[in-house]
Amino acid sequence: MPLLTPGRRWQPAFYPFKRETPGYRALETLELAVKGPIWGCRMCGNCLLQETAFICPMECPKGVRNGPCGGSTQEHCYVDETRPCIWYRIYDRAFKMGREEMLLEVLPPLDWDKVGGETWADVIRQVRKLGTGKVVSGLLSKDAKVRSTTWDSVFRPVRQPDWWQGDSQYHAPKYTEPVSELERRLKAGEFVVTAEIAPPISAKTDKLFKNIDALKPYVAAVNFTDNPSATPRTASWACSALAISHGAEPVMQVAARDRTRVGLQSEILGAVDLGIRNILCISGDSMKMAPTPRGRMDIVDLDAVQMLWVLRRMRDEGRYLDGRELKTPPEFFLGAAASPFASEPRFQALREHKKINAGAQFFQTNVVFDAERLEVWLNELAKRNVLDKIYILVGITPLKTLKMARYMHSEVPGVSIPAALLKRMEAAEQAGKGQEEGVQIALELIEKIRKLEGQGIHGVHIMAVGWEEIVPRIVSEAGLLPVGFTSIEQTAIA
Ligand code: SF4
Repeated sequence: MPLLTPGRRWQPAFYPFKRETPGYRALETLELAVKGPIWGCRMCGNCLLQETAFICPMECPKGVRNGPCGGSTQEHCYVDETRPCIWYRIYDRAFKMGREEMLLEVLPPLDWDKVGGETWADVIRQVRKLGTGKVVSGLLSKDAKVRSTTWDSVFRPVRQPDWWQGDSQYHAPKYTEPVSELERRLKAGEFVVTAEIAPPISAKTDKLFKNIDALKPYVAAVNFTDNPSATPRTASWACSALAISHGAEPVMQVAARDRTRVGLQSEILGAVDLGIRNILCISGDSMKMAPTPRGRMDIVDLDAVQMLWVLRRMRDEGRYLDGRELKTPPEFFLGAAASPFASEPRFQALREHKKINAGAQFFQTNVVFDAERLEVWLNELAKRNVLDKIYILVGITPLKTLKMARYMHSEVPGVSIPAALLKRMEAAEQAGKGQEEGVQIALELIEKIRKLEGQGIHGVHIMAVGWEEIVPRIVSEAGLLPVGFTSIEQTAIA
């Protein structure tokens, strides 16, 4: 185990695949010999140790470089339960050291041309560029501000290359008129309902169309998940396009797990051409949850924060990740997942803050079963002054059975169900009324969540996995029928 890194190595260090000069190779070997035992460095070639409280983030099995995924807990990493979540450790140490605001800087994805190589030569080059004498005197200055500015002038260009230029600032969207119906309703102040439809697991689309037709009068938009549990289904972009053909507004989910930087940018342009205007960036369930044989679990080319940063810049700055100009930029309303109950609320709030800065305009949260705990997370977001920059839709799942409740509580990352609710489901199931109890619990939760409307909550996102037909009843009984609601029957008569 490295000296200053609390975790163990999950993956071997990256090794360069190209031949280097002996001098260059010697520098690499020296850097690895020093940083490996101390920090568990794996030679990513894009060192971020200062921003990550001096813990190498490359221990994370997902390879995320901008904070924990929704499965992070104090106890362990959800991909590998034998090890700690390295991002939990990073956040914990950063808060203790008072360096937590440094975690807001949006850090770039790996430049694979540099992976396996050293970072020290870049630092030396930058010092020379600034003038060695000037840097040395700046670092020895008695003025803390001068020391800090000098330090930053050396390391910032190394960690933030020209093609990325990540920062820790909020970037407001550069358009004003809503680009989607979902955005229009949120801006109009409606308490909005969205709902999830599971994409078909075969080439048959009957049930998909049935669900779309049944749900569309009741919700502002329907989400199509992107291969949940890392298990292949019909593509989210295809379901979204089919929804548009049936008069429903889609939210297309994009999981970082299955995207490269090239694939992501190309897919988004194609999706916008198909009329898709709501895009939700998520990390995606780990391959750990996939059926065997499993694919690689250790390399994610872009994490969810980086996806937001790339897409926002495509839209608002008209450029690709590599800096090329995008002559006609795409238009979309950009969303992200939020996980109020993963990790600690203050850690999660920092992570959500970073997503907002990177480009998230709306959140759809993980499933919530505890409205009181949700308030704790909201308070943390309020402390960060970000609630006026984001629309939050709270995830609601009607429980169908006790087995499902227990599974979600113990197996689904970032979800916890209070013991009292589990007991209610148990008693109801014994009386043969499990499903009805699940609906009542969902309605009670919605009622509590609606009371938070003035405190940063703008709607609910119903995830009735495999039970989509219950959504119209929940929306009706919760009193959430949209403005100008027309039922299917009324539409047919008209
Ligand atoms: S829980 Fe998530 S963020 Fe933490 S180490 Fe595991 S995969 Fe990475």
